[in-house]
Amino acid sequence: MTARDVDIHTLPGMLTALRLPSFHKLWAEIATRADSEGWPAARFLAVLAEYELAERDMRRIRRHLNEAHLPAGKTLATFDFKALPSLPRPRVEALAAGDWLEEGGNLIAIGNSGTGKTHILSAIGHALIEAGHRVFYTRTSDLVQRLQAARRDLVLEAALAKLDRFDLIILDDITYAHKDQAETSVLFELIARRYEYRSIAIAANQPFSGWDQIFPDKAMTVAAIDRLVHHATILEMNAQSYRQRAATANKRARAETPATTSNDNQNKGAD
Ligand code: ADP
Ligand code: MG
Repeated sequence: MTARDVDIHTLPGMLTALRLPSFHKLWAEIATRADSEGWPAARFLAVLAEYELAERDMRRIRRHLNEAHLPAGKTLATFDFKALPSLPRPRVEALAAGDWLEEGGNLIAIGNSGTGKTHILSAIGHALIEAGHRVFYTRTSDLVQRLQAARRDLVLEAALAKLDRFDLIILDDITYAHKDQAETSVLFELIARRYEYRSIAIAANQPFSGWDQIFPDKAMTVAAIDRLVHHATILEMNAQSYRQRAATANKRARAETPATTSNDNQNKGAD
């Protein structure tokens, strides 16, 4: 085939068949530019290929964000590091880089309610997706329910295998899962299956000593904690609740604002 034999009108169809949507969208515009600026053919091709790859990356990240079910708006950009001095930003940024996901490392955030555990784990999850990893966020009790239903339907193995595709599963509020709700041990099976293989991040309102209620018996609790902490980073997040602190700061600000200023009147509607 010579170059003259190629019918340019078939190009859009060929690019669609090859699944190259960015080529399809941009080739005419870039070809005009290449012709008018006298680009070598290789440059023209490289520019289009670059667009195609960048667009493909964006689509992948969008797909992975969708499947992750992360709580909206809880990102590193909206996390106030000054509010939690025990968790310095460089430490979180190192976690967000994702090296700990190799060989299935774990991350466990323990602390009282309202200190930002859900927020920081979601934010790390978000950053990991942007770095190319796959993440799934769930409240622990929701996942336990799902896995129990799968066990009843005799498809637990398939349900666990489906979760293998995620490099990280974020189990939020693990201490809200109760053994009376989980008369079976699906949560333990998930933890045992992922041990040294795929990562788990956990948010817990209680220290390990309070985890007895989660698993059917003491031996299983010890075995689960043992596996989880073997290769784990533990974030101790005990502090005053961020919500309470925000409410106190608000009250103080209002007390310090003279009642007659127009500013105070404007703020009234916002409360
Ligand atoms: P926890 O999971 O520890 O109970 P959350 O992550 O749900 O706490 O935090 C409670 C609320 O406060 C959320 O709306 C969260 O976004 C916000 N929050 C907590 N800590 C911070 C922080 N350091 N910076 C910004 N918002 C925060
Ligand atoms: Mg939470």
